[in-house]
Amino acid sequence: PPQWISLLRQIKLGRPYSKLYPLLHLQQIQFVEDKQEFSRFPTKAGRRSLSRSISQSSTDSYSSAASYTDSSDDETSPRDKTQLNSKGTSDFCVKNIKQAEFGRREIEIAEQDMSALISLRKRAQGEKPLAGAKIVGCTHITAQTAVLIETLVALGAQCRWTACNIYSTQNEVAAALSEIGVAVFAWKGESEDDFWWCIDKCVNMEGWQPNMILDDGGDLTHWVYKKYPNVFKKIRGIVEESVTGVHRLYQLSKAGKLCVPAMNVNDSVTKQKFDNLYCCRESILDGLKRTTDVMFGGKQVVVCGYGEVGKGCTAALKAMGSIVYVTEIDPICALQIGFRLGFFSGLLGNKNVVTRDQLDRMKNGSIVCNMGHSNTEIDVASLRTPELTWERVRSQVDHVIWPDGKRVILLAEGRLLNLSCSTVPTFVLSITATTQALALIELYNAPEGRYKQDVYLLPKKMDEYVASLHLPTFDAHLTELSDEQAKYLGLNKNGPFKPNYYRYNHPSKIPLNDTQISDLCTIYLQWIPTATTYMFSLVQSS
Ligand code: NAD
Repeated sequence: PPQWISLLRQIKLGRPYSKLYPLLHLQQIQFVEDKQEFSRFPTKAGRRSLSRSISQSSTDSYSSAASYTDSSDDETSPRDKTQLNSKGTSDFCVKNIKQAEFGRREIEIAEQDMSALISLRKRAQGEKPLAGAKIVGCTHITAQTAVLIETLVALGAQCRWTACNIYSTQNEVAAALSEIGVAVFAWKGESEDDFWWCIDKCVNMEGWQPNMILDDGGDLTHWVYKKYPNVFKKIRGIVEESVTGVHRLYQLSKAGKLCVPAMNVNDSVTKQKFDNLYCCRESILDGLKRTTDVMFGGKQVVVCGYGEVGKGCTAALKAMGSIVYVTEIDPICALQIGFRLGFFSGLLGNKNVVTRDQLDRMKNGSIVCNMGHSNTEIDVASLRTPELTWERVRSQVDHVIWPDGKRVILLAEGRLLNLSCSTVPTFVLSITATTQALALIELYNAPEGRYKQDVYLLPKKMDEYVASLHLPTFDAHLTELSDEQAKYLGLNKNGPFKPNYYRYNHPSKIPLNDTQISDLCTIYLQWIPTATTYMFSLVQSS
């Protein structure tokens, strides 16, 4: 186009870039007009078919899980279908039971990286510590959770399961579980109404009453409290995985309404310091790439909240060369930002952190997503107003369009990005799943009186046991204390090795990238000349 020729000529003539901005701007306006021209004419059906073809072709090339889950063209709601597994049972509701064989392969792949959980399964299989346990579960239904559920079944439990997120279910995995007789009620893309219907189907079953709850986010626990309080007469305990759910449990306990013991798995060292941090560090880029194909280098990113999840996300984004700004309410976490990033510059597990006012002020093309558990962090409801147009451009990717043409790219309708739009690292989830299995075994088998109607942490010894089960993956061998050393430290040679109040250091030894090194260099060289020597030793060691 002529504008480009003129632009190139100007560059060749060595015109300063500032003088070229108007030309670039002209180019952008032209682009927007071109787009409007394009979208003015197609019929509704035409536009829809375009979105669908983009969505399918783009998801098909991703992980096998995503492709199989998304490429089903059967639009009938699973609630309207009657399906039978090969044994003739129909006590489940999944997208398509015929996908079971494919789901089995997904589960087998996950098992390879969950050897610790499998070894726990093998060790305890003979004793059947969960014989008689009737567990109702509400978690993400993925290949990794399937390995956990099958472990619980192998240890003697009966399980009924539903999803804690409307987008994170791997349909083929749900089918594989239903095929072996686990009553699963879940599919990817449930409506809000479906979500609560599925939870209800899990709990409200004639002739079957749960005696254990495994929850992720607290929705199941909340439902049982609201609709079936009598069920608690038989419940021996609740195991809760997430920050959000644990927060709800502590609130119940404080109000004196918690009527059974609950185990806070989120704050087990092995869960919090590994799942929250590493899982998010490893998966945020994946979720963003699959949905938007964005390049991270040089992008300005605001991460809200610098807890475990925020730390993981920040590290990944920084490592890719993004300029990361972080917001915090807690001065201690804020101080950690100062130490780790070199500058203060986004939240997770709260509500209305990203408001309509902020969304109104965002630039055209801004990407908005959430890594926290629920969909309350971003005020998505405020975007459902008549003046804004929503356009689905890919599976779980919406363009929200303002009257002046500005588009904000909203991922997974504000629900947690990594589990909705990509997959998460199996090994890290093995740690969480092993912790959940042990917490269930402990609560189910605890003698009366060991746990009251309160929220507990998993005993430290079990936390250490979970970690030790995972060490062989790294071919790591523990050093043993000598008798003399154990006596000197006042420890049992077999642990626990740390008191409950010990705060494990954040594994923050993430190699510094060039930008971080130069940020640090600038700070030290400008303000603390005497630290130069230290700086160079830091650079050398990193
Ligand atoms: P955390 O408590 O360690 O961190 C949350 C941080 O947000 C805290 O430091 C808190 O001070 C800060 N914060 C709260 N309100 C804020 C506000 N308005 N502005 C700025 N900062 C604010 O919790 P976490 O372990 O980081 O987990 C956070 C969320 O992520 C939870 O909802 C949890 O369930 C979820 N989670 C997601 C994944 C995943 O795979 N996506 C994994 C684990 C946990």
